[in-house]
Parts: sequence; C-alpha cells; structure tokens
Amino acid sequence: MGGLATALRLRHAGFDVTVLEKQPRPGGRSNVIEENGFRFDMGPTILVMKETFDTLYRDIGQDIDERLSFTRLDPNYRVYFHDGTHIDLHNSMADLAEAVKGVEPGAAERLFQFIGAGAKKYALGMDFVTRNYDRITDLANPLAGWKLLRTDSHQKLFSHVSRYFKTDKLRKAFSFHSMFLGLSPFDSLAMYSLITYADLALGMWYPQGGIYSIIEDMLALADEMGVTICTDSPVEEIIIRDGGVKGVRLASGQEMQADLVVSNADLPYTYKALVPAEYRQHYPDRRLDRMEYACSGYLLYLGLDRTYPEMQHQALYFAEDYRANLDAIFKTRTLPTDASFHLNNPTITDPSLAPDGHSVLYLLAPMPNLQGDVDWATAAPQVREQLLSQLEKLVDPDLRQHIVWEREFTPVDFERDYNAVHGTAFGSLAHGLFQSAYFRPHNKARDIDGLYFVGQGTYPGIGMPMVMISADLVTERIKNEWR
Ligand SMILES: Cc1cc2nc3c(=O)[nH]c(=O)nc-3n(C[C@H](O)[C@H](O)[C@H](O)COP(=O)(O)OP(=O)(O)OC[C@H]3O[C@@H](n4cnc5c(N)ncnc54)[C@H](O)[C@@H]3O)c2cc1C
Repeated sequence: MGGLATALRLRHAGFDVTVLEKQPRPGGRSNVIEENGFRFDMGPTILVMKETFDTLYRDIGQDIDERLSFTRLDPNYRVYFHDGTHIDLHNSMADLAEAVKGVEPGAAERLFQFIGAGAKKYALGMDFVTRNYDRITDLANPLAGWKLLRTDSHQKLFSHVSRYFKTDKLRKAFSFHSMFLGLSPFDSLAMYSLITYADLALGMWYPQGGIYSIIEDMLALADEMGVTICTDSPVEEIIIRDGGVKGVRLASGQEMQADLVVSNADLPYTYKALVPAEYRQHYPDRRLDRMEYACSGYLLYLGLDRTYPEMQHQALYFAEDYRANLDAIFKTRTLPTDASFHLNNPTITDPSLAPDGHSVLYLLAPMPNLQGDVDWATAAPQVREQLLSQLEKLVDPDLRQHIVWEREFTPVDFERDYNAVHGTAFGSLAHGLFQSAYFRPHNKARDIDGLYFVGQGTYPGIGMPMVMISADLVTERIKNEWR
C-alpha cells in the first residue's frame, strides 16, 4: 500500500516509476482472496483517518469519493466478553455514553473526560507523526512535549485507562487499540490512546468491495498514469556502487537500473537481505537483531451458507484473563490458552462479498511472532478449534455445519509470502518510545545515496493511515532532494 501510494505520488511529480512486487498480486499485507464466489480482505479491515487517503487522491488530482463508495460504520465495534455479554462502541458520543453506563453505572462522565484527554493527545501527537526527521532537534518541541506530559502520555496505557474506568470490561474495551501497533496495552505508552480517540470520534469507514478495492483503484490509477507494475518479481539485491544506489537485481538474475530505490518491503528485512553488509554501517545485523518486533496473528476466513444480520460489521472478543493472553503474545511468546480475537462480518454492509444467502466471516487472533518457538503445524488446528468454539458460544451454536469454505493464514505465511521479519502481522517494528518518531528508522538510508523507505517499518509507523502519511513524507523528501 505504501509502495503504491509512493509510486502514484512520484509519477504525479514527473518521475518514471517501476513497482517490483514479489507476490503474484500487489497489495502486500492488504491483500484479497477471491474464491467460490467469496471475497475476503486478508489483512486490514478497519479504516480510520480516511482523510489520509483523501489527501493522497487530492494530491494527485483525484477525488477518492468519486471513484469509490464509502459507508461510515456505526457502531465501530461490538465488544464481546467471556461471560457472553457485549457492549457496542458507537461513534455517537451520546449512544456510547448510554452503552458505557449499561456496563458501569456512573462511567459516562469519565468517558467524556477520557475521550477529551485522547483528543488532546491526538492534536499534540499528530505534530510528531506528520514530519520528516533529519536530526534529533526536529523532535524538540518543548511546548508540545510539556503539554503531552500533562496528558499523562508517558504512563502505561492500561493504567491510564484504569484511572477512568473501574470495571474489567471497560478497561479492556478502551485499551486494546495499542495491539494494532503490535504492543501490549500493559507496555504501551498512554500516548496511544489517541488511536482510540481517532477511531471513536473521527469515524470508521468501509469501502464497497472491501479494503482491497482501494488497492485495485490505486492499480487502475497507476495504469492510467503510466506506472509500470511488475508482479512475481522479487528483488534479491539493491545494487550499490560508490556509496550510491544504481538499481536492483531480481531473483531471476535480471538487473534494472534506477537513480533511486524506495523499498516498501519490511525495513529490517531490506537492510539485512537486500543491502550488502559492507554498505550499512548504521544497520549491522546485531542492531537489527536487537530491535523490538511486533506481534503476529492467526487468521481464519470462513465462507458460510447463511447470513448473520444480528451481528455487527466489526466485533472483538477479549479473553477472560486479558493479561495472561497479552503476556503469552508479547512476553513469553507462547500460544495463548484463551485467544482474544477480532471478528469481521462485512457481508452485513456489503452483500456483494458472498453469493446470495451466504456470508463471510474473518477472524484475527493476535499471536506471538516467530521469535517464540510455537510450532504452527500443530498450533494452527488448536487455535482454529478455540476460535470456532468461541464463535459457537457468541454467534451460532450450529456454526460449523454452515461452513462451506475456509482458509487460514499463520505467522509462517506472513514470513514466507511477504518477507515479514519474524512473521509479524501488522508491521515489523513495535512502537516502543525508542522505535517511534525520530527514533524509528528514517525513510532515507544514512550511508547510501538514493535509497529510501516507505511503509510501516519507517516513520510514522504501522497501520494504513500511517503508511499513507509515510508515502507523503518520503515523496516530499525525494522531491526536495531531486528537484
Ligand atoms: C491481518 C492484518 C490486519 C490488519 N488490520 C489493520 C486494520 O484493520 N487497519 C489498519 O489500518 N491496518 C491494519 N493492518 C496493518 C496494515 O495492513 C499494514 O501496516 C500496512 O498495510 C503495511 O503496508 P506497507 O505499505 O508498509 O507494506 P506491506 O503490506 O508490508 O507490503 C510490503 C510489500 O513488499 C513486498 N516484498 C517484500 N519483499 C520483497 C522483495 N524482495 N521484492 C519485491 N517485493 C517484496 C511484499 O510482498 C509486500 O507486497 C493489518 C495488517 C494485517 C496483516
């Protein structure tokens, strides 16, 4: 997604652009399965901060709302708890307050305080997100820093949320967002409650046809604008001579010349596998190995011969022992005994994704990355069983007999298909303080002229909106340097 957005931006600026994609179909982690009349988004399904997409289109002279049709979701999520109860997280503050009161009487006022604190973090934090960094002083904005400290951004997210909500249920419902950045809410900075704010207050969108329809439209634009897209074209080496990029060598042996290369592959993978060690003094293997890597995920895609109109479009289920689940994923890197998961039922908004009377369900359970020693050949059936048993309790006791098609995707597949380092799902590098903003690897290689990066591995980071901003930032840098 970051690579395609950059290709469109650079082409619009007058560059000749060729996109080299390892896989048979572009999109990377935002991919699609189309089989037996079912269409599944394989990766992202939650689209927030839509304005980052609007900006891309506007900057290349297009209007995304004229090319694609978006529906605003409400509620954003239904959150299921282990005791079978649920709460709907609405984006209307009045409806959300009602729902919150139903779980924790008296919590409505504290909800507004929590959302207000998130709004402040968002306003202050975005200043650190939407900029290129060259030197550490670019980070120094004493006033913004001081104001951010006053919003308790330095605390741990879960403790921060716990100050506003007393019940285990609401603490879970308002702290899980950091997992989208590959971080446990017990370790993540409270700063990241700005995502909860962006999600609830700025709205969540669904493009007809699913997220992959955005990739398809970007590919159509690439074609119209004259960007060359080569699929099944894995790059094996970035050719460097005299301290500068000269092009790339593909796995087929073909060499392609280029004045500059923008790598959208996982950044630690790019350095380690594509840049010969003698050219990367700043990123030797030992530094790359010491970095903190985000979590992975297990995905189950189900095609069913019935629909579930009583469900919501997006839902989440939290394990009863939230902490044990998160510690297994992030600390001990073992298989959680009770999986939390994200449940997506997009057919409720878009029946075109399945044949008449059928539907698709997508389940995503955060899992440890491959730095643990989980054997996925034996673990996958166990996780599948856990997820299906939970679905039987939450959604339909007869669910299994309605499954007419299914596919799964494990951490091993992330590594094999996308060269995702340690099989990470949402993005490679976790978002601890020292892997964020200035401290995240920069979008330009320090020691190699003409080598740039885009996507989740560089700043601002993980998730589709951040990747869109990353494409904007690297293009701005390249335009300045190649004027
Ligand atoms: C299951 C899942 C759910 C997610 N849910 C959400 C969500 O709901 N909302 C959200 O905003 N984000 C979500 N994300 C995160 C989001 O999808 C990613 O952060 C984002 O798509 C990453 O995009 P990217 O441009 O950085 O690159 P990637 O998608 O990582 O693409 C990198 C590309 O490089 C290619 N490549 C790798 N090596 C080579 C090589 N040697 N030669 C040529 N090509 C190569 C890969 O094949 C791939 O196409 C989710 C991710 C996953 C996996």
